Amino acid sequence: MNPINKFIVQFVKILPQQVVYIFAKKYVAGPKLEDAIRVVQELNSKGIMATMDVLGESITKKSEAEETKKHCFDMLDVIKKYNLDANVSIKPTSLGLNLDKEFCYNQIEEIVKKAKEYNNFIRIDMEDTPYTDSTFNILKRIREKYDNVGVVVQAYLRRTYDDIVKLNKEGVNYRLCKGIYVEPEHLAYKGRQEVRENFVKILDQMLSDGNYVGIATHDDYLIKESYRLIEEKKLPKDKYEFQMLYGVTEHLRDKINADGHRIRIYVPWGEHWYAYSIRRLQENPQVAWYITKSIFSLK
Ligand SMILES: Cc1cc2nc3c(=O)[nH]c(=O)nc-3n(C[C@H](O)[C@H](O)[C@H](O)COP(=O)(O)OP(=O)(O)OC[C@H]3O[C@@H](n4cnc5c(N)ncnc54)[C@H](O)[C@@H]3O)c2cc1C
Repeated sequence: MNPINKFIVQFVKILPQQVVYIFAKKYVAGPKLEDAIRVVQELNSKGIMATMDVLGESITKKSEAEETKKHCFDMLDVIKKYNLDANVSIKPTSLGLNLDKEFCYNQIEEIVKKAKEYNNFIRIDMEDTPYTDSTFNILKRIREKYDNVGVVVQAYLRRTYDDIVKLNKEGVNYRLCKGIYVEPEHLAYKGRQEVRENFVKILDQMLSDGNYVGIATHDDYLIKESYRLIEEKKLPKDKYEFQMLYGVTEHLRDKINADGHRIRIYVPWGEHWYAYSIRRLQENPQVAWYITKSIFSLK
């Protein structure tokens, strides 16, 4: 991140939350489930799929995790009720991974079970490295009972290629992304091109081994490389999909859709939008311009 953008994000962090929401709202559907339903319906009308996510992470009480689980049930209910083309993404720490691993496992199992009843799918997001092993353990245990669950892996982690070589044999369904958390250098590649090369190497291996992959990136270079691999391997369209975040690079989203690939948008919603939105602002290479524009378009 360049120093001006870094300064801008630090400045945004000292503003009151109501002000930050002016910049954050581009990246979140809104505070209510109805907001997410509306956004998913708009996407579906363009032939774009969605994954819904209720925001919130690293909770401090089990009751908060139960609240998150209830929101997940509600999402599954509305997807069924309104016949939405959507699944649900979950964050293990919002379901108690940071409090009690067994409790978290049970919470996630209940969600996957309910999704199974609805013939739907649950994607387990990947958080920072203190949770990597326990997230994989939960995935493995749940997969012993259910097949409608997949996980996220992060190309910036040095361990990921070795992880997926093992997981591929079990037919795991993946989302592959670069990774967003700040990790130490002995655990994560830091160079932009290094991360990209690892992404391509991992994707190549996953697709060669026949695993379903959600290719989650807005990086032009990686999208071109993914197109190349898909073509080389003559992959049918139901063996992969592209994934992007709500509010990011819509022109690329529309191009991929127009090219006839499956594409799914991550639609976050909920009252706890702050941490997520700050991460998005940090990733926006034009954050200074974006914030200036948002201020001047205020009515
Ligand atoms: C569907 C989905 C789910 C994800 N789930 C996880 C997860 O479970 N765990 C995890 O660690 N990470 C997750 N991520 C985040 C991911 O790891 C990256 O941090 C994020 O996608 C940015 O990486 P990039 O590949 O788009 O490359 P970048 O190099 O960051 O971005 C490429 C280009 O996209 C544009 N761009 C990117 N972000 C923004 C933005 N916020 N605003 C405006 N333009 C932008 C810019 O033009 C930029 O040059 C997810 C990402 C997606 C798309």
